Amino acid sequence: MTTTRFAPSPTGYIHIGNLRTALMNYLIARKAGGSFILRIDDTDPERSKEEYVDGIKRDLEWLGLHWDRVDRQSARLDLYEAAAQKLRDMGRFYEAFETPTELDLKRKKQLNMGKPPVYDRAALALSEAEKERLRAERGNGVWRFKLNHARIEWDDGILGDISIDAASVSDPVLIRGDGQVLYTLASVVDDTEMGVTHVVRGSDHVTNTATQIQMIEALGGTLPVFAHHSLLTGPQGEALSKRLGTLALRDLRAQGVQPAALLSLMARLGSSDPVELQTDMAALIDGFDISHFGSAPTKFDAEDLYPLTARYLSGLPLEAVAEEVSAAGVPDDKAEEFWAVTRENIRTLKDLGGWWTLMQNGAEPQIDAEDADFVAEALALLPEPPFDAETWSTWTAEVKAQTGRKGRGLFMPLRKALTGQAHGPDMSALMPLLQVVKAGR
Ligand code: GLU
Repeated sequence: MTTTRFAPSPTGYIHIGNLRTALMNYLIARKAGGSFILRIDDTDPERSKEEYVDGIKRDLEWLGLHWDRVDRQSARLDLYEAAAQKLRDMGRFYEAFETPTELDLKRKKQLNMGKPPVYDRAALALSEAEKERLRAERGNGVWRFKLNHARIEWDDGILGDISIDAASVSDPVLIRGDGQVLYTLASVVDDTEMGVTHVVRGSDHVTNTATQIQMIEALGGTLPVFAHHSLLTGPQGEALSKRLGTLALRDLRAQGVQPAALLSLMARLGSSDPVELQTDMAALIDGFDISHFGSAPTKFDAEDLYPLTARYLSGLPLEAVAEEVSAAGVPDDKAEEFWAVTRENIRTLKDLGGWWTLMQNGAEPQIDAEDADFVAEALALLPEPPFDAETWSTWTAEVKAQTGRKGRGLFMPLRKALTGQAHGPDMSALMPLLQVVKAGR
């Protein structure tokens, strides 16, 4: 059975980059009628926080990315220890004692000599007695996986044929000196034990994949299909890594972005398929094909989420937004009318409050100098509120007759005088909700 997983480390909230990973894995599982696992990679007790675990779950639920199973690596440490022992028994796991400073020095020397900064395996030459002495001096060493120096090859679901020379990669540290198991090992154990068939993640993991392929083989697991999606950049191609903190899903949610907008954009961005608003998850799943994604960095502009959000909202019935309409201060008996007038004129639901205030208190008029006399003349003809559905047509007909203005030259100055903006709802529909006109009063 097709099984995928989203494996965030709960050391922060999920951002737009993580969403891409989560979504691709989710869509692959759902399209195949398979299973989607949420795996919390919390082997780092210091940096992992419950608050983030909760936050990650809330974000996924908000998006409708429901998981079939949730697991936590912190509850599976025995399995990792057993795998570590197996690697030790096979002679593929060794203890090394270099301090970070020593490693850094080695790297610098190698780079100076024009060599790749690959760990030199000095620890392999240590005798038992030397290890004892180092352990007494420095505490436990780290445990490194001994790579086979051969080429590691796989057919990547996005990148195509990949071939990496294992000799160009340092033997990865899988257990730290303090005993903490690193996700690189934990992930291999879990993917094998949980029957994960497809692993989609960012291209920053390509080297990990190479080492993990050897680990899976050493531990006798079955290799999943790997696919590495390109990393996101900002709209100008600039690195996004530093700004990802500001692109947390919870912040986008707080800014009024709708799940449908996020899903529609992120399920297609970077692929040859067009981005269009998709309100139906089944259609999103159906049209998803990982092989349509390219390896080039993918430009992401958070601004693109807003037109999609607006389009999504404009199609909603009042029931779907009744709570927000009410929270904007609109009384129930006006809600239907209010929503009909505003739904196509908001960027997010956060704009509702502004429209209601405008209707209640009147807008700051916008009157261009050349229209001042005309607007004054027109306003003198406007009756006092409350207005009704006929007010706009009756009034503008009268203004037209009196001033001779017509078309845009007639309507636009009046719209701007009454609403303070050049764009907005159909004025006939707006008038009955408009309680106050500030201009000329
Ligand atoms: N916890 C890892 C990360 O967030 C998981 C990587 C993976 O998908 O294997 O980078």
